Amino acid sequence: MSAKPVFLYDTTLRDGTQGEGFQLSGLDKLRIAQRLDEFGIDYIEGGWPGSNPKDIEFFREAKKLKLNHAKLAAFGSTRRADTAVDKDPQVRLLLEAETPVVTIFGKSWELQVTEVLRTTVEENQAMIRDTVAHLVKHGREVIYDAEHFFDGFKDSPEHALATLKAAADGGAACLVLCDTNGGTLPSEVIEICQAVKKHLPDTPMGIHTHNDCELAVANAIAAVGVGANQIQGTVNGYGERTGNCNLTSVIPILQLKMNMAVVPHLELLRELSYFVDDVSNNPHFARAAFIGRTAFAHKGGMHVNAVQKLARSYEHIVPASVGNAQNILVSELSGQSNILVKAGELGIKLEKGSPVAGAILKRVKELEHEGYSYEAAGGSLELLIRRELGTYEKPFELKEYHTSFRQFRDGHPPVCEATVKLSVDGTPALTVAEGLGVVNALDLALRKALLPFYPEIAGVSLADYKVRILDGHDATAAKTRVLIVSTDGQSSWGTVGVSDSIIEASWIALTDGIDLFLQRK
Ligand SMILES: [Zn+2]
Repeated sequence: MSAKPVFLYDTTLRDGTQGEGFQLSGLDKLRIAQRLDEFGIDYIEGGWPGSNPKDIEFFREAKKLKLNHAKLAAFGSTRRADTAVDKDPQVRLLLEAETPVVTIFGKSWELQVTEVLRTTVEENQAMIRDTVAHLVKHGREVIYDAEHFFDGFKDSPEHALATLKAAADGGAACLVLCDTNGGTLPSEVIEICQAVKKHLPDTPMGIHTHNDCELAVANAIAAVGVGANQIQGTVNGYGERTGNCNLTSVIPILQLKMNMAVVPHLELLRELSYFVDDVSNNPHFARAAFIGRTAFAHKGGMHVNAVQKLARSYEHIVPASVGNAQNILVSELSGQSNILVKAGELGIKLEKGSPVAGAILKRVKELEHEGYSYEAAGGSLELLIRRELGTYEKPFELKEYHTSFRQFRDGHPPVCEATVKLSVDGTPALTVAEGLGVVNALDLALRKALLPFYPEIAGVSLADYKVRILDGHDATAAKTRVLIVSTDGQSSWGTVGVSDSIIEASWIALTDGIDLFLQRK
């Protein structure tokens, strides 16, 4: 194991999806996993293969991901009582996920063992030890999540510690203490973690907290102070009830306040936060610490004056260090880092502070004001950069499009029709197509028109389509934002459109998707 002071364990894809209003498709999960890896998260928990077939499918697909840093973890429980571990179907599915890491949870609270599991204390410990040992024997790094650990410890420290000892004896790489109900205070976390460290000094200790007392981050940080070296949490704190420990807050605290290097590019934090919001189709939480829209917004006259003289007078960190920006005097340089990174990916070296970088940023800010968001739409941002740089070649000229929707009363299924009129190098094309919906019809008509000129677009298809109505806070008036994911089977790219009309917003995102593919050819 490397000398990293604290390992980041993300469970957005598993515990996060227990939260109300946080749903992810298989494709969403793969895209988030890829981003988490790029950001420098150490462990990514992908799901519970024993709980649903969708998660089994995820692990099958996840094998195609190119993860440079993160280790993928499958989550599950200990074997059932009075069942041999190699005969337990749920444990077998954990191995079949073929992840380098397996995380299992077990019972630490005597009450849960006797009243819920209805088994003996001895059998419970055997279940933990056997399951960990079995997975270790099959070459897995095993992380043990001690469910209800703090509540269990308060009831019976001997019993709770004995369950940890069972996991350590089985060969667990880390013992993670869980505040499953979220009711523990930081002072209690410190005391109990110290007791665990004293009892089992040789096995690394981790922490998994929930936010029911608004203390999930505080409790995780408290545990680090007394020797925990793994923090489990989710991006933006998504999760059951009031949510999980918010990694989006934990990470800058570790890196900026405690001087622990946990991620290579902290300045991409805000982008990661918005990406997960956009992919899950959730609004951004403006008052979020560090990365929220208002995290460095100054309104009071005196504050503004002071902050203009000396930013440090009313700001606890440099906003750009997490990819954020001061909200009153948007300096020419702020916010450029994301653009520079993106341009770098395209093989274009932009100087920070150069006129072209400034022009790109200005355009991005104008469009963001209109309701655009580029965190999950890298394809549209790439097009914008190409346009500003002058390397963009228009692949087609749109003249007009038209859509119609006909509903019949005689049982005939509804008909959606789209007409597209465009030209390529002066050669006109006019096509009509019928589709299952307006967007589908437009997509088909556009392809039909372009196919004779660009046969390669036959391999491009729509992978995802998301619509969000923006309220008056994010934009000046209620508008529609459409996010589209296109794929050519090898890679996928996101594009975005914003308009008062859902059809026009869809059209912008749709054409950007095809346009980008042609630019890259
Ligand atoms: Zn949890």
